[in-house]
Amino acid sequence: MKLQFSNTIQQLKTSATREILKLTQGNDIISFAGGLPAEDFFPDHAMKEAFNKVFDQGKKSLQYGITEGHIPLRKQICQRMKKKGMVVNEDQIQITTGSQQAIDLITRIFINPGDTILVENPTYLAALQVFEGYGAKVVGVKSDDDGIHLNDLKEKITRHRPKFIYVTPTFANPTGRFWSNERKQGILNICKQHETIIIEDDPYGEIQFNETSGIPSIYSLNNESDEFNPVIYTSTFSKTVIPALRIGWVVGESSIIQQITKAKQAADLHSSMVDQQALYFLLRDFDLDQHILNVSHEYEQRKNLMTQLLLQYEIPAKWVDPQGGMFLWLTLNDSSIDATELLKKAVKEGVAFVPGSVFYTGETLKNTMRLNFTYTAKEQMEVGIKRLQRVFTTVPQN
Ligand code: PMP
Repeated sequence: MKLQFSNTIQQLKTSATREILKLTQGNDIISFAGGLPAEDFFPDHAMKEAFNKVFDQGKKSLQYGITEGHIPLRKQICQRMKKKGMVVNEDQIQITTGSQQAIDLITRIFINPGDTILVENPTYLAALQVFEGYGAKVVGVKSDDDGIHLNDLKEKITRHRPKFIYVTPTFANPTGRFWSNERKQGILNICKQHETIIIEDDPYGEIQFNETSGIPSIYSLNNESDEFNPVIYTSTFSKTVIPALRIGWVVGESSIIQQITKAKQAADLHSSMVDQQALYFLLRDFDLDQHILNVSHEYEQRKNLMTQLLLQYEIPAKWVDPQGGMFLWLTLNDSSIDATELLKKAVKEGVAFVPGSVFYTGETLKNTMRLNFTYTAKEQMEVGIKRLQRVFTTVPQN
């Protein structure tokens, strides 16, 4: 039988990097590649108790639920959003199956094939895949350590008339960047002026190292007296509780959320009610804020250790010390080195990372790489960085 797959799925590229990284599975490889949280910090006992409470409620808790998501959970999310300066009610929240689904549903409600989406460059790989999957034309906007370049943004909005711009302003994946308030306010002003939607993806915002409480989201900078907030905000419990729950959420104007709910209904009716109820009990009875502080403290130590080892083993690269999140973004001193080639050697040496080029659209800096510092235990980190050093000794430096 001749299988007639859609044009979009046929056009979707499988990444060569993913193929190389597959080789790392199950081998004695120290992987700084995945974006995984540390398993030893998962609140498994609290989670188990929370699930027991769901089952203790009887069979009614195992029934279908509403598409928007479990109301008590959405109310708790409203409370948590206040810390980000976001005053929202539960009608402005849609529960999603991870924030990955949020990105998918938002794209589904706005994009016709051929429409343009602007992205911060570099950006989250799996978002690029969603956008391409809907046949969007993706255009990168230049960025630096303070965030997106506002002049380039203006120019590209005028030239491409995008449906939306996708950004991760707080401890970004892959760069770990934390935008200045000036850039956050700037993007909001420009997008309002040009009636362009902003997708603010914020999975890492709560993983902060300096206890700078209340980092403002772009969403929160919108003047409350203004009628319409052009920001659609999404976040997740994957990094703060456990990724296996697959629970994320979207915040936005009710008129937008209603369309997302329609798309969600068509996609999967609703996210798991058992999981949503368990998460509700966890948030009610467990001190998640203290847990996040503990995890962030451990991650900061792991980040400090990694940067100290990179210096000690003279890895020929520069980076900006991240103030939160899960990633360290290296720019190799020798701009002629392609990190994708380096990865092949690294896997042979028993260490893995993600070459930076996969996160770019258009203009690409090949001498970049993303290292995850949260997953590898401190004892293993030195072994991994030593292996990385060996990789560099095989590469002639310019
Ligand atoms: N956005 C970004 C920037 C991410 O890095 C990730 C996952 N690593 C996600 C969204 C999706 O996360 P999840 O679906 O687990 O909520």
